[in-house]
Amino acid sequence: MTTSNARQIVPASGMGLYVHVPFCKTKCPYCDFNTYQGIENLMEPFLPALTAEIECWGETLARPAVNSVFFGGGTPSYLPPGYIEQILASVQDSFRVDPAAEITIEANPGDLDAAACEGILGQGVNRLSIGVQSLDNDLLNLLGRRHQASEAVQAFESARQAGFDNVNLDLMYGLPNQSMDQWRRTLDSLAGLAPEHISLYALTLEEGTPMHRWVEEGKIPEPDPDLAADMYGYARDALASAGYHHYEISNWSLPGRACEHNLVYWENGPYLGVGPGAHSHLGDWRFWTVLSPRDYNNKATAWADAGVQPADELVESVLQGVPTSGGWEHISQETACSETMFLGLRLLDGLHLSDASTRTGVDLAKKYQAPIEECIQLGLLEQDGDCLKLTKPSYLIANQAFTRFVE
Ligand code: SF4
Repeated sequence: MTTSNARQIVPASGMGLYVHVPFCKTKCPYCDFNTYQGIENLMEPFLPALTAEIECWGETLARPAVNSVFFGGGTPSYLPPGYIEQILASVQDSFRVDPAAEITIEANPGDLDAAACEGILGQGVNRLSIGVQSLDNDLLNLLGRRHQASEAVQAFESARQAGFDNVNLDLMYGLPNQSMDQWRRTLDSLAGLAPEHISLYALTLEEGTPMHRWVEEGKIPEPDPDLAADMYGYARDALASAGYHHYEISNWSLPGRACEHNLVYWENGPYLGVGPGAHSHLGDWRFWTVLSPRDYNNKATAWADAGVQPADELVESVLQGVPTSGGWEHISQETACSETMFLGLRLLDGLHLSDASTRTGVDLAKKYQAPIEECIQLGLLEQDGDCLKLTKPSYLIANQAFTRFVE
């Protein structure tokens, strides 16, 4: 395989790499991610399986450039000491990682004492994303989190003392029993810590989760969407006053500290996902890994044993030959255009239509002239020359605009 062929699959400008860690010490009752408690026995075989998958993809794709690495889950910080270092060593061997790449790990506050923070930083991670969720102990209990509010603050301070200068804190709002006063106190305390990045997520009651059942059975009240909207409004004002830039519907950052890895998703760019259930988007293909961690461990190991057939381009036969595969779909040009529009519009500084048209090879201003005009008339979007963006009142009802770009 020649280098130029390899670049047909992954652009020379590189891609993002997502590493899915499917382990949690306890499963939170609202969570429907592909993550499990009580399967610690699979951790040990997970490490060689994951590094095997990373190496196999590195060979298949001819060691492409990687600009960001994101360890998500699950709880990557729950992995035994040294695992992240070994996984990163495998990533460095298998891909050309930009020396300035953002390397993020999601962490649970309970896992982050001073030694753990120093250990994670020493392993090459340069960005921490801490799942604080709330600074109210009653709400943390309701969410089934295994930390107290004081531990979350302590975790942040440990991260700073260890030398982390790029930290995200996640919070949730719109929770059952959560009052506006609780939300104000939590948000103000959190902003007072001055992390570089803040992500705020409204609770979504996912079918099949214990929390969904508790609400159905009347054990806990259903979250109030109007109150959740007020909480979001309060956050927008408070974080603007604290100097944060609201750059994506659910994300705020200090200047220059947007999450590089997540920008790849919103710009509908290329990324590879490894680990059970991880999704990838390369070229015209979306594909994903088998969900079950046990199956994944076996299949990744089998891939390494069977050896790799380097690919000249990513086609169905190549994806069929990937033993860890859980499935794939071809992305039509229609879908690529539509995704470029509604993912790009999540970025609140707006979508530059000429740039997006270059990326898709389609004149998007012309293609979507009617829905753009309709959204502007409805007050969902505004346009300034080439730049199209959500209006402020539409941030929480953005789907009303997005659905108009899906045929
Ligand atoms: S820690 Fe995160 S990934 Fe794990 S169960 Fe809770 S919400 Fe889900």
